[in-house]
Amino acid sequence: MDALLDGLNAAQRSAVTSPASVLQVLAPPGSGKTKTLTARVAYLVNHERLQPWNIIVCTFTLKAAREMKERIRNIVGDGIVNKLILGTFHSVARRFLVRYGQEIGIPKNFGIADTTDSKAMIKRIITRHQYTVDPSQARSRISGLKAKGTTAEQFAATSKMADQHEFMCVYSEYEETLRLSNQLDYDDLLLRSVELLRQHPACVSSIQAVLIDEYQDTNNIQYELMTLMARTMQRITIVGDPDQSIYGFRSAEIQNLYRMRKAYPETIVINLEDNYRSSACIISSAKAVIEQDESRPNKSLLPTHCAGEQPTLRHLATAHVEAQWMVEEIHRSKTLSAGLLNFSDYAILLRSAALSLSIERALGKAGIPYRMVGGRRFFDRAEIKIVLDYLRVINQPDHNDALIRVINVPSRKIGEVTVKALLEEAETSNMTLWKLVLDCAQGRRQPRSKISAQAQKGIDMFVNLILTSRRKLLSTEGEECNLLDLISHILQKISFESYLKTTHKDNWKDRWANVEELVAQATQMASSTSDSEEGTEDALPVVDGIEQRQDTAADILSKFLANVALSTEVEKENGEEQNQVTISTIHAAKGLEWPIVFIPAVYEGSIPHSRADDNDEERRLLYVGMTRAQGLLYLSCPVKQSGEGETTLSKFISPRSIQKYFSNRGPSFGCTVIGDLARILRRPCPSSAEVGFAHSLLERIEDDQYPVNREDIDGEGSGWNASRPSGDALPPFKRRRTEPSN
Ligand code: ATP
Ligand code: MG
Repeated sequence: MDALLDGLNAAQRSAVTSPASVLQVLAPPGSGKTKTLTARVAYLVNHERLQPWNIIVCTFTLKAAREMKERIRNIVGDGIVNKLILGTFHSVARRFLVRYGQEIGIPKNFGIADTTDSKAMIKRIITRHQYTVDPSQARSRISGLKAKGTTAEQFAATSKMADQHEFMCVYSEYEETLRLSNQLDYDDLLLRSVELLRQHPACVSSIQAVLIDEYQDTNNIQYELMTLMARTMQRITIVGDPDQSIYGFRSAEIQNLYRMRKAYPETIVINLEDNYRSSACIISSAKAVIEQDESRPNKSLLPTHCAGEQPTLRHLATAHVEAQWMVEEIHRSKTLSAGLLNFSDYAILLRSAALSLSIERALGKAGIPYRMVGGRRFFDRAEIKIVLDYLRVINQPDHNDALIRVINVPSRKIGEVTVKALLEEAETSNMTLWKLVLDCAQGRRQPRSKISAQAQKGIDMFVNLILTSRRKLLSTEGEECNLLDLISHILQKISFESYLKTTHKDNWKDRWANVEELVAQATQMASSTSDSEEGTEDALPVVDGIEQRQDTAADILSKFLANVALSTEVEKENGEEQNQVTISTIHAAKGLEWPIVFIPAVYEGSIPHSRADDNDEERRLLYVGMTRAQGLLYLSCPVKQSGEGETTLSKFISPRSIQKYFSNRGPSFGCTVIGDLARILRRPCPSSAEVGFAHSLLERIEDDQYPVNREDIDGEGSGWNASRPSGDALPPFKRRRTEPSN
């Protein structure tokens, strides 16, 4: 028990050990809500003897799920953590649907339509009928309705307005397209799980506890799901912070907090007040920003760390200069910190991903490694998408969109016009493209439009490839199939390496290496699933009367594709934190923390964003961004926006009462600053001799007196680090700067 409660304060302990059946922990950023939730999971297992496979833990992002899993693993060990039903709402919902979805007519091998697929479907529907509605608007509106639990039929029944007619048709046809191609979109995963649990409560009858992080951002359908999951045994713990509610634009309902208290009058609320994340100066500045919202109840947020350095607010000439300044500041602080900081200690948080271009360019040019979160994903690379689309078609041949994308890749001489004609014919005959091409290839049907002999040959080859691959997958040829065999079979049949060589002469090797990485990931997933009886990722309680069976190769493929669809990570999913600067949207950064945080482009139109209609939510977003910082916080604003004239500093920062919390000089990185930083980060502090050495080194680089390659000073155990103990091998320096170079 002691070990479990070690490192928790009194309020956190009382939350962890609370006998309450319904518990809300409401607290500001950095007060240890996630830490408390994690310890509570361990407490329920170790002390209340709940079965881990009967505990559901929902987080908001994959990264958060992974981090929480690690934290719980450290307390309770491997064996137990793998049995928990832990993941994002969507991944937990998917698990229930895969296992029990057949009870409500969802085939086990359903595919998941990601945002790109959904957009493509909606666009096709609109083009076909020559509707005038905007595809992106239609998509987000459909998603909004689904998040509220409103089906196409319900919408049609309640909406009387004539101008809604087109949208209504798009919504119901989109649903029909998903059904025909046996796919669920992200919203369906939640919606259909609610339907499943309503109709078949037995699926969750053994659940003993439900715990949810970042509760302030749940929407109606997630609320519903939570109450259904906890229906038989009310043991709910939620943690959240109304000040960090930033997903209203995606139908999150802050009211869910109060709705829950009404539905469960026995709810006990515990508040936490101490902040363990940030320096006192960072907390004061963030508080000043959020307190501008006068309608919010005032809350206490007490620092546990020293004052630290004042946050920086800088005006730079242009976005380009701003990016350059961040690069300089990263180099400068990293060098001056005398080994305290790594690149992975820095995050650049953006209001919108579109701002990343000039920053990426500047970091790239300076040789600073970085990772983009919420940007272009590994799985979105062209060569990876082709392989994944083949796997999607093999898993689910009725997946029209994937089939359209690969039927002529590599070229089988099936032109775009032919594909379009076939698609139209399939749609008017109310069948999928696969059924049509299969019928044509097997001579059961003559296509209506004229198809060249060459194209027909190409179609036959494609159909043949899919059929042989499916036979392999379903093991109907009598041999054991694994994912590796299947992917190798496809790559070989389509001569993918030669295809990349001819289409991408310059970088085919990199692209082929990516494909090999994908194969490695698929293989790893397959082996981890077959190694463990619990199927690590897919733990669920066993329900009497509903058939259970071992995962087949087809199940493993479905699961792999689902993981890809639900992944929001950019890079290879190996979970390793590399020594890279993080560039992320603020939305994707919630719940996380970094020693040093930059928030650039703090101007009107960027934050608050010109298209956002909720000012308070935009302010909360800035608050979330600022409270990610542990030791140093930099805000900046380019004076000129490219091509759009002068900017105005964000109204959230511009009042004098707020500006007083910022300095425009930037931290000096003297011994005291580094000492404070080390204390906040709980890391060993470099000695004053080391700090002095770093200062002299940087000075020489800046004076160009000493030809040091920047990369030499950046790497761990790099040249200068290694030579340091043997004394100062550098030539004596002329003058010592105490002020930073800017
Ligand atoms: P957010 O609202 O941003 O999600 P949070 O309330 O979930 O924040 P955590 O991420 O759990 O906060 O904790 C913030 C940091 O404070 C973490 O580094 C955590 O390890 C540390 N921390 C939390 N509680 C304590 C404590 N009692 N003693 C020392 N450190 C703590
Ligand atoms: Mg948290």
